[in-house]
Amino acid sequence: MAQLSDDCFAFGGPMMSVDEAVGIIAARVTPVAEVEIVSLAEADGRVLARDLAAPLPLPPFTNSAVDGYAIASRDLPREDARGFPLAGRVQAGATANAAPPGHAVRIFTGAPMPEGTDTVFMQEDVQVDDAGGVVLPAGLKPGANVRPAGEDIAEGAVALKTGQRLRPQDVGLAAAFGLTELAVVRRLRVAVFSTGDELASPGQARAAPQLFDSNRFMLLAMLKRLGCEVSDLGILRDDRASLADGLKQVASRHDLILTTGGVSTGEEDHVKAAVESIGKLVLWRMAIKPGRPVAMGIIDGAPLIGLPGNPVASFVTFVHVVRPTVLALLGARPAPLIPMPVRAAFAYKKKASRREYVRVFLRRREDGELEAQKFPREGAGLLSSLVETDGLVELVEGVTKVEPGAMVGFLGYADLL
Ligand code: AMP
Ligand code: MG
Repeated sequence: MAQLSDDCFAFGGPMMSVDEAVGIIAARVTPVAEVEIVSLAEADGRVLARDLAAPLPLPPFTNSAVDGYAIASRDLPREDARGFPLAGRVQAGATANAAPPGHAVRIFTGAPMPEGTDTVFMQEDVQVDDAGGVVLPAGLKPGANVRPAGEDIAEGAVALKTGQRLRPQDVGLAAAFGLTELAVVRRLRVAVFSTGDELASPGQARAAPQLFDSNRFMLLAMLKRLGCEVSDLGILRDDRASLADGLKQVASRHDLILTTGGVSTGEEDHVKAAVESIGKLVLWRMAIKPGRPVAMGIIDGAPLIGLPGNPVASFVTFVHVVRPTVLALLGARPAPLIPMPVRAAFAYKKKASRREYVRVFLRRREDGELEAQKFPREGAGLLSSLVETDGLVELVEGVTKVEPGAMVGFLGYADLL
């Protein structure tokens, strides 16, 4: 069973930076070991469990990159060659006959190079004379317009590495090798709970002082994008015993437990006490805004992450704590988020030694440059701020203010998962 080793609990210090947290997670998490074989149709988004060595070279045979005429470069003229006699025709998928010396062969894109030829003239550059011979212009380099066998990938080379989160192009590469299935890490099983007496599940009656639980559905959707098998375990009440009970019941059946809400230090925040009563806990006061308190724990060997209840804080801490944990549990190669430089169209002040994420719209200015416009309000409870914007501007620890026009790093929502 995957787990966070206990010694990460030495890090329960005052404020933890995002990088520290990610480093600890990456170093301490033991990836799941179970491997399963999936068809290519099921492989997108899964994590490759073994290095894939090319079983054949790509391309598998030397072929023409264009429609044109294949010749032997040693027959190439210094000046225009007139009336080069034509010997045969080879199209994609056909077997090529050997070309007699001094002849050109009509050839099409993807067709195998006839034995005795090594260079292809594009048909646009060639004229056919009245006698049916071709007129070849001078100046073409030997080997031009030919794709040698193995130029893309040599036979035996590692084409996909263990830990690769498979993307459509990776699946396409496996297919190019003639493979029908791939060995991938089994899906993570993740349990998700919301906590809070004020929450009602969509579909149920909502009392006047209640609001519908949105975080659970957001987190379930984010986990699915990361390829997890999710258990939607509903809402736990703000009560230590029932929280402890609920968490304990699912721990042995899951690789990761996620909760939202109840991790602050208020009287009605019971997640920490519940975890302490049945497992081990450290509270990570993360130096991240929106966000802050994130609880980490272990219950019966399963790591638990307690996210804050405010929807925006929950979203941001998911990206920076849950995502790297999920990837580490899958043994995926680290995939740092790389912000794209854009111009800030806003002014902003922040505390040093804390990382902040600003919800922004991305707009193209008249001069073609991309600029980030700040969502006008800042509350961590504003779902509209996530729904209406395009992504987050990342302001790292050292930054204390942003002036309009400054370059800042933008992370689009689509790239976060
Ligand atoms: P908490 O972290 O439990 O103190 O909650 C902080 C704020 O987030 C409160 O206003 C909660 O009502 C709200 N909240 C907590 N959990 C959820 C949830 N699952 N969906 C929407 N809002 C929530
Ligand atoms: Mg609460």
